[in-house]
Amino acid sequence: MEEAESSAKEPSFDGGLFGEGLVSAPAATGKGKRRGAAPKGPPARRIRVLLPLPLDTPSGGAYDYRVPNGAPLPEIGSFVAVPLGGREMLGVVWDGEPDPELAEGRLRDIIGVLPAPPMRPALRRFVEWVAAYTLSPPGAVLRMAMSVPSALEPPGQQAGWKLSAAGEAAQGGAPGYRMTPQRRRVLDVMEPGEPRAGADIADEAEVSTGVLRGMADQGLIEPALLPRPRSFTRPDPEHPGPSLAEEQEEAAAVLRESVAKRAFGVTLLAGVTGSGKTEVYLDAVAECLRQGRQALVLLPEIALSSQWLDRFKARFGCAPAIWHSELSGRLRRATWRAVADGEAAVLVGARSALFLPFPDLGLIIVDEEHETAFKQEDGVIYHARDMAVVRARMAEATCVLVSATPSLETLTNAEQGRYAAVNLPRRHGSAGLPEVTVLDLRKVPPERGRFIAPPLIEAINETLARGEQAMLFLNRRGYAPMTLCRTCGHRIRCPNCTAWLVEHRAQRRLQCHHCGHAEPIPQHCPECGAEGSLTAIGPGVERVQEEAAILFPDARRLVMASDTIPGPAAAAEAARQIADREVDLLIGTQIVAKGWHFAHLTLVGVVDADLGLAGGDLRAAERTVQLLHQVSGRAGRAESPGRVMLQSWNPDHPVMQALVSGDLPAFMAEEAEARRPGGWPPFGRLAALIVSSEDERAADRVARDLGLAAPGGDGVQVLGPAPAPLAMLRGRHRRRLLLKARRDVAVQPLLREWLSRVEVPNAVRVQVDVDPVSFL
Ligand code: ADP
Ligand code: ZN
Repeated sequence: MEEAESSAKEPSFDGGLFGEGLVSAPAATGKGKRRGAAPKGPPARRIRVLLPLPLDTPSGGAYDYRVPNGAPLPEIGSFVAVPLGGREMLGVVWDGEPDPELAEGRLRDIIGVLPAPPMRPALRRFVEWVAAYTLSPPGAVLRMAMSVPSALEPPGQQAGWKLSAAGEAAQGGAPGYRMTPQRRRVLDVMEPGEPRAGADIADEAEVSTGVLRGMADQGLIEPALLPRPRSFTRPDPEHPGPSLAEEQEEAAAVLRESVAKRAFGVTLLAGVTGSGKTEVYLDAVAECLRQGRQALVLLPEIALSSQWLDRFKARFGCAPAIWHSELSGRLRRATWRAVADGEAAVLVGARSALFLPFPDLGLIIVDEEHETAFKQEDGVIYHARDMAVVRARMAEATCVLVSATPSLETLTNAEQGRYAAVNLPRRHGSAGLPEVTVLDLRKVPPERGRFIAPPLIEAINETLARGEQAMLFLNRRGYAPMTLCRTCGHRIRCPNCTAWLVEHRAQRRLQCHHCGHAEPIPQHCPECGAEGSLTAIGPGVERVQEEAAILFPDARRLVMASDTIPGPAAAAEAARQIADREVDLLIGTQIVAKGWHFAHLTLVGVVDADLGLAGGDLRAAERTVQLLHQVSGRAGRAESPGRVMLQSWNPDHPVMQALVSGDLPAFMAEEAEARRPGGWPPFGRLAALIVSSEDERAADRVARDLGLAAPGGDGVQVLGPAPAPLAMLRGRHRRRLLLKARRDVAVQPLLREWLSRVEVPNAVRVQVDVDPVSFL
């Protein structure tokens, strides 16, 4: 692709406001055009098919095929089966002209067209846009939009029985049929013209299925296909929900109006924790249902959403369709298909739900929009919050970004007028915001070898004595983040990663939180052989729970971490136990931080408030404020007032001060002023290249070559190469380069050209991360 042509069309994410021409991404389509093909046009009966393959070829996974004579030409977007090599593959008929120069003899016929609704233009444009923006092959992005190939096959139908003409006659009492009491009961439970499953009939008529076979032999009943069950009830927008308070209603009206316009628009819904943001955006979902369009709600951790689902049911009278990685194959298929058929009117899901085939999406909600969980870090590296805006734009839909602690990116977009904004400044009902204090660990340190300071112990005792619940928060799984030999000072590392092994004492293992490597806790130091010399350094939630067991022996304790709460069912059960007051003291990692509403929880103790500030990437302070503010927001959500204690060695740090004052807007304004002069996001653009290989020298060579070939010029700067903080991950050596550009620079053409100038051997992988969130 020549630069001059492509830069005019580059996708650039500016809060979703990009020029009209930008949406036709170049990579998947331009093959014929690029050669300046003659206007004669391609021979008839040739089509382009995009295959869901991560092929880094110029065509990006699009191939030309022929439609056999006599078969109708499939419309663009149709799912087709085609031969590829010796295999059969499914793909999508794509826009763009087939290559007229491709010899007829090299073309192969498509095998067939699948009986599924064709992929809509809005989704095809989205696939192309994401590919171009993230520098991924379009086929790799298409693969995310075709994650359930079996859903393209005709939905499987179950066979059952229906009454034959003879059966109907016998049912009406006509003589001449051999009747037994069993047969009579079967006729009684059947309706003319309504097939039923054999097991159902046998059950209700209290007969064996043998009776049914006998009746079939006699011609009284005959086999019939059962209608496909409608498993996705339509949520009822008029189902009575809670009546909104005045401020809530004002915010809801803004969102409803936007949805009713049936045009693209983005609104930030900000509001303190517990202000009723969920109720407000569910009102926008109701409006979307009235408009007859589909709504998508993205949650950062769908497995933790049992309370959210309960509220949805209370508001709409039934559950929404759900999308996440742990769905069973059958449900995945049914859900994908129900979305494509428009039968699933509301879907709540993880970030991959953006790629579902909604025929008429009217609303996308991104709840907890500041969450880093929305960034997908492998395969196609994309930020679901930003791509939700793009998806909404292409579907002419409303996008609502929701948070009590919006990201600086979103706040800036709102400030600069790209996004509208509404705000809920108060908690719902009588609840006030919790009172936040910092415990200065230099003045009130915990006992030696302990992690909970005396004032926090006292506060927990008071809380428990009042019959209320308390929570200890520490964002670290396991027992201890490091194991040290007191004899020789050796620290036990992961053999595959630049990381310490984390002790999980309950499982008697040391574990790497990056690659999953696990080994038994050794008796002797692996370095000097000293016995009984290994000692745990620092706390994880398991260790806090051990300490809590000593300090509060009578409190019923529950640990919530991703390894103790492995799935949606366990999370729902934990939430129930807390709500039903079967738990007094909750000890958890970030999985307890967000979304939950526990009416009797009034005290939150943050064991290590400084934790997120170490490492110090660009957004460390912002993220720490967001996380700790969210955790704090769990306290005092109902009648009883809440309290929060932050244990810190750095009580004067602006992060602690912001949490104490509660003035997050002021903190974010300072963040903005700190980033603006240097042109850091959101005031400039970043893109990272991550070079990795099992062969360290090969990784270094490619990283060096990339450094030498780095683009420069006005408003463009390349930092690195340098070893990544995780210099080794899963046995691969990693090097990083960071491209920093002014906001008005389109980084994709720069990156594309840069990468094309460096030869990358097979043993080396270069990942492109546009708008990086992680700098590890
Ligand atoms: P947020 O999402 O802003 O943290 P929620 O939507 O979770 O706040 O609301 C907090 C609590 O207040 C929830 O239990 C919710 O059901 C309740 N609530 C909010 N608004 C109303 C309302 N208008 N009527 C009744 N209950 C409400
Ligand atoms: Zn590891």
